[in-house]
Amino acid sequence: MTKNLLLAISIIPLSLLAQKNNFYGGGYEENLLERNFNESSMLLNADEALIDGKPTEKDSLALTPSFDLHANWDTRNIHSYSKDLSRMEGEIDLALVKSNHDYCHPINGIVTSDFGYRSGKYHYGIDLRLKIGDPIFSAFGGIIRISQYSASYGNVMVVRHDNGLETLYAHLSKRHFSSGQRVKAGQKIGLGGNTGRSSGPHLHFECRYLGKPINPNDIIDFENGVLKGKHLSISRETFSYFTKIKKKVYHSIKKGETLYAVSRRYGVSVSNLFKMNGLSQKYTLSVGQTVRVR
Ligand SMILES: [Zn+2]
Repeated sequence: MTKNLLLAISIIPLSLLAQKNNFYGGGYEENLLERNFNESSMLLNADEALIDGKPTEKDSLALTPSFDLHANWDTRNIHSYSKDLSRMEGEIDLALVKSNHDYCHPINGIVTSDFGYRSGKYHYGIDLRLKIGDPIFSAFGGIIRISQYSASYGNVMVVRHDNGLETLYAHLSKRHFSSGQRVKAGQKIGLGGNTGRSSGPHLHFECRYLGKPINPNDIIDFENGVLKGKHLSISRETFSYFTKIKKKVYHSIKKGETLYAVSRRYGVSVSNLFKMNGLSQKYTLSVGQTVRVR
């Protein structure tokens, strides 16, 4: 652990930590990540550690939502966690909101692409149609962790919320905040766009916990633009799609069936079918032959 990190951790008031663990259920976090800091060093008052009463970038670590849970505040790498939650034990009861005002739908647009398989690849978010320049709102309150341009996501912002959940907003035309700034639920954080690897203006929206994608449909009713509930129960079931990815699926070729038909049926590209099965483009299929489709 670096010196800066220690300094930052040392100014989290004990009472705040106790309060947080209570509100968000504690327990599981203790087992999930080692608390690798010295409890006695947390007795320093936050104000005393700040220079001119203003938090510096180092200090902002301590003010980071759910810092004790993540032990990670990476403002450069969008994906910077390595925990495999598909084998986690027990259940986390994650409090999403206290009142209905604590959630705001990022944009009222129809879902153009859902969470799940798409052309043989996993789509870890939900795409919502918009017009370039439409305002994008932060779903919950929190602190901007990422505000950058990425080749794939385009202009992208990640907000770390107070309960440890992170939401990601991609392909924006404009970003209104930089990392470290606090935003409220419903605050306009940027404008919709078509930047990065994007085929038409849309918002690519992700929900992640400790870096692992959660199906946004588990949390949000996208048809009505509201939360499904005030709490989210997180267990290994939440991440079970990871094991489904690894599971291989085979298909037996029927008479007259082409690879194009198989491709359409399973939503996997023809080139991926060739690759997965080690076939050359000139290969002809025979009836009854088994091909891997996932
Ligand atoms: Zn997308």
